[in-house]
Amino acid sequence: MRTLETPTIELLEQLEPFAGIGRDELVKISSLMQRRVYESGETLIREADIATKFFVLIHGRLEVIKSIEGDEAETLNIIDHSGELFGEMALVEDKPRSAGIVAREPSEVLVVQKEEFLELVNHFPQFTLEVAKSISTYLRRTDSTLIGALEEKNRELEDIIHELQETRQALVDNERLSIIGKMASTILHDLKNPMTTIAGFAQLIGLKEMPYEEIVKYTKIIAQQVSHFNTLAQELQAFARGSSTLQLQILDFPGCINETLSNIQFNLAQQKMSLVTDIQGQAKINIDPHRFYRVYENLANNAAEAMSEGGTLTIKTYVNKSKLIMEISDTGHGMEQEIQEKVFDEFFTYKKHKGTGLGLAIVKSIVTDHKGEITVNSKFNVGTTFTIKLPIAKD
Ligand code: ADP
Ligand code: MG
Repeated sequence: MRTLETPTIELLEQLEPFAGIGRDELVKISSLMQRRVYESGETLIREADIATKFFVLIHGRLEVIKSIEGDEAETLNIIDHSGELFGEMALVEDKPRSAGIVAREPSEVLVVQKEEFLELVNHFPQFTLEVAKSISTYLRRTDSTLIGALEEKNRELEDIIHELQETRQALVDNERLSIIGKMASTILHDLKNPMTTIAGFAQLIGLKEMPYEEIVKYTKIIAQQVSHFNTLAQELQAFARGSSTLQLQILDFPGCINETLSNIQFNLAQQKMSLVTDIQGQAKINIDPHRFYRVYENLANNAAEAMSEGGTLTIKTYVNKSKLIMEISDTGHGMEQEIQEKVFDEFFTYKKHKGTGLGLAIVKSIVTDHKGEITVNSKFNVGTTFTIKLPIAKD
């Protein structure tokens, strides 16, 4: 850095902050200033230093830099406009420098010490106005830089959320595939013994001396085994479909479940059980009614199995806040706590000969595919309630 002689009046007249100030006054002003030349790479202002002077660029190119992590620095701004003020912010605020300034080309500047700066501000309104203008330009630029940076961060966040959603979907798909794989091997494994039984009974029936009642008994066993496999096959299919094939439509509740309810009523009546309905709440819901039918069907089948000595299934619905609530309760044998915790697990079946353990896993996957939730609440020897919460669709 080199210090030159004080600036000439002609020089000051060319610089915007001093335009419009009379020659006599410029003479005084020039005596308050120093002229300096900084070589490329030299530091004019060190970040975090206490401010003791401010500058006006005569010519050259300066960079405003701020250190970030470690040794790295970020360029905040370039100063290359003749007459540009800089370093006045910290002086006005009486705060350490928020950034440093380095010459990028040989640059000539005017330097004003703090006391002289205050004198300039006190005596020359034109100069004060220039300082105010410079500060407000700086603030506006900082604002838009900040907003730009925020927008950039927002976009990054959106990208990350998008990626997470994709990963999550891939995981769900994978999980479904691995369950399907498990199911297929379970089916193959389960198939072996009963197939031998079926083949055995079929052969027995073929023998002439077989009494009629025996034949009826064996054909029943065969029919049961076959229907068990049918159920397995259906459930495998229902599970394999997943949410990708949901055909969601916005439908009016309760209209969209009328048919389901009358089917359930019919099935329960066949088994000498009754259905009580308390359908409240009108709402639009985003639903695939065919798939959702299986939710009711599976819950009603389980309830019927739990009420083999007779009982009542109650379906109660209502709207609470932005959710449609459905409660499906039975008066069956209920479950103990540790059973309740596992009922939605795939292949969990308890105290049954022919359970696949998939009924409630399917129920849950259909409900979640509808962005809903399902919970169970049961009392051993009293009964069980399943509660489904579905989001209400906006019109
Ligand atoms: P599965 O019916 O093939 O056993 P589910 O997934 O449908 O499989 O049900 C899992 C288990 O949860 C059943 O085996 C049963 O023990 C229990 N369960 C389900 N629903 C009820 C209910 N309404 N009352 C009592 N127990 C139930
Ligand atoms: Mg079941």
